Amino acid sequence: MEANMTQAMDFIEGDPVAVLTTEPVSRLFDYLAPAGGVSIGALVKVPLGPRGVLGVVWSAGTGFDKSKLRPISMVADLPPLAPDMIEFLTRVADYNVAPLSQVLRLATRAPGLLDPPAKRKLISLTGRQPNKSTAARSRVIDFLKSEGGRPFAPVELAQLAGVSPSVVNGLVQQGVLLVQDAPRDMPYPRLDPNHPGKALSVIQADAAEALRGSVRSGSYNTTLLKGVTGSGKTEVYLEAVAEAMAQGRQGLVLLPEIALTVDFLERLQVRFGSRPAEWHSGATMSERRRCWRAVASGEAQLVVGARSALFLPFQDLGLIVVDEEHDGSYKQEEGVFYHARDMAVLRASITQATVVLATATPSLETWANAEAGKYTRLDLPERFGTAKLPEMAAIDMRDEAMQPNQWISPNLRDEMRKAYAEGSQSLLFLNRRGYAPLTLCRACGEQVGCDSCDSRMVEHKFQNRLICHQCGAWKPIPTTCPSCDVAGKMTALGPGVERIAEEVAEVFPEARVEILSSDLSDSARGLKARIEAIAAGEADIIIGTQMVAKGHNFPHLTLVGVVDADLGLQGGDLRAAEKSFQLIRQVAGRAGRAEKPGRALLQSFQPNHPVIEAILSGDEEAFWRTEAEARRSANAPPFGRMAGVIVTGPKEAEVYEIANQLARNAQPLFTIGAQLFGPAAAPIAKIRDQYRVRLLVKTAKGAPLQKALRQWVAPIKKPNGLRIKLDIDPQTFF
Ligand code: ADP
Ligand code: ZN
Repeated sequence: MEANMTQAMDFIEGDPVAVLTTEPVSRLFDYLAPAGGVSIGALVKVPLGPRGVLGVVWSAGTGFDKSKLRPISMVADLPPLAPDMIEFLTRVADYNVAPLSQVLRLATRAPGLLDPPAKRKLISLTGRQPNKSTAARSRVIDFLKSEGGRPFAPVELAQLAGVSPSVVNGLVQQGVLLVQDAPRDMPYPRLDPNHPGKALSVIQADAAEALRGSVRSGSYNTTLLKGVTGSGKTEVYLEAVAEAMAQGRQGLVLLPEIALTVDFLERLQVRFGSRPAEWHSGATMSERRRCWRAVASGEAQLVVGARSALFLPFQDLGLIVVDEEHDGSYKQEEGVFYHARDMAVLRASITQATVVLATATPSLETWANAEAGKYTRLDLPERFGTAKLPEMAAIDMRDEAMQPNQWISPNLRDEMRKAYAEGSQSLLFLNRRGYAPLTLCRACGEQVGCDSCDSRMVEHKFQNRLICHQCGAWKPIPTTCPSCDVAGKMTALGPGVERIAEEVAEVFPEARVEILSSDLSDSARGLKARIEAIAAGEADIIIGTQMVAKGHNFPHLTLVGVVDADLGLQGGDLRAAEKSFQLIRQVAGRAGRAEKPGRALLQSFQPNHPVIEAILSGDEEAFWRTEAEARRSANAPPFGRMAGVIVTGPKEAEVYEIANQLARNAQPLFTIGAQLFGPAAAPIAKIRDQYRVRLLVKTAKGAPLQKALRQWVAPIKKPNGLRIKLDIDPQTFF
């Protein structure tokens, strides 16, 4: 960081400066700049009470008595956070009504930021000859020459050259080898934007050129890149990544699932000649440190990561791709509640970057923003190559002769039989993990529930237990009713994927069956191996939860059966229709990816439901228009704004008391013309022994919602253990 040393500092020794720490205190603290001065954005260690804590120099001092201030203890050997990063963090806190210190914590989630730069020893040749040549000495010298002068760690060198460490030491002492300090973190290999990519089709090339132009403009813009699965969206946005690199700006690709990055990184390696930096919860501590530092120094050209990668300290971020932008996992619903897609747009608008929102099925928010002209829209209408979209039809379950405890209709069975006979794969989709969602006592009607949550326990036959999907608690599967003590009357009700697998095994005893469900794949690597095996044709029938909807390529798959197309349509969720539409279309899109045409069959008791009809008709725009109209007339997002409020705590009476206090003191909300709904018990009224009560705030689009929320909640005195969580633009309502 020598360059920084010579740069002019914002503050000289003894100047009062305000520091934001990551501690849960809601204000800045003043300190004195240390010897050598300090700049805004510098990461520092400051005394707080008896401890030393991490902080960032945020501004000039806030006016405390200078004689009482303590100096900053240490300035980290890292580039200061860029001014646009500081603005971004501030605006994230404002928008999501979150404490700034918590937002800063999102941005400093790497180990050892205050540690001195870690070094390691590396050995290379000097060119001098040894005073006496021995076989062992020659092996070391020849090995290093054969590696083209690349330096090695001492132990590694001895091992690779097949000599004892004393031989290496002897050569160092004679000056034949040179030991030098090198940074502990390996630099990332350079990515080459000009490394040849695939030859694009005309439509792909046009879209890629448009995105390249957007990046070249060097100013903020957002594009919706819409195309069916397999149309080449990834190929196209990688051209935008290449352009950002060519401009010398950093790029970020956000993905919804860690499991996907394994394949994805290999694909990037092919495109750019090397692997980019990666950032996700599965990364080791040293990988996280390496990535954070390389991003901060500007050395990392491209980061591929999960939503929290958005908070990395980029020096000059020129492009953010949000792949599968409609995916629900972009919304964080713990700690700071934020939507990574929306915050990506915010960050890009501050840093003059391009955003690419890639999806086959946009969120209504994004669709409407494109419709309103705020986003550019690019469509990739066809699948690349010969692959065609599957033909879709409903199976009217009212007309099917179904036996008890049977969920695959005769009609669907016939189609599966045909596919099996042809040597093609079938996929059955049911978005329910486990064996059965409900365990009921036929004697007394008791439904086995979780002791800590307001939820029924789900039978998982493979693990031979009942599991709570809210908190993960489990119990043995009871044979006697825990309520009435009658034996032999406990019954599993309804299907999960494991139960569908049982039915498939009865009907197709010879077939090779694979279940893809998040609770059955121990590791990302194990999952990848299973997905590759399926893609290679090592399964006949695949049964999966929503994880099969995500971008896997199964070239032998020709039939998709949606076991319960009505499942997502129930429940009063604002986005029920939209989510169902997206999910079923994504799953259907798995069929017929290679040369073989595909079919998707939707089992439904209400085949005339508008959402089912929209899916079948293939007229997506009609669906979005209808859905947008319904939301507009209800003043619902994205045409009006909402904020969810969840009051949680261990004591039910206290939770209600605080929720009622909020309702009684809602004047700040009414001043901006907002409506308040609730309080009411949340649909899941207890999770992990925490009671949950909800309120909902609705306003017109332009109203100063965040300011009103702060004024409303700030005066409330919360008992210990009670929390008021604010959720701007809520995505879930449970
Ligand atoms: P999407 O991101 O829209 O699902 P991809 O970019 O992953 O689509 O493309 C789907 C498949 O088609 C991938 O295997 C990809 O390598 C291939 N593909 C797409 N475009 C081309 C192209 N122009 N040349 C060769 N292969 C392509
Ligand atoms: Zn539970």
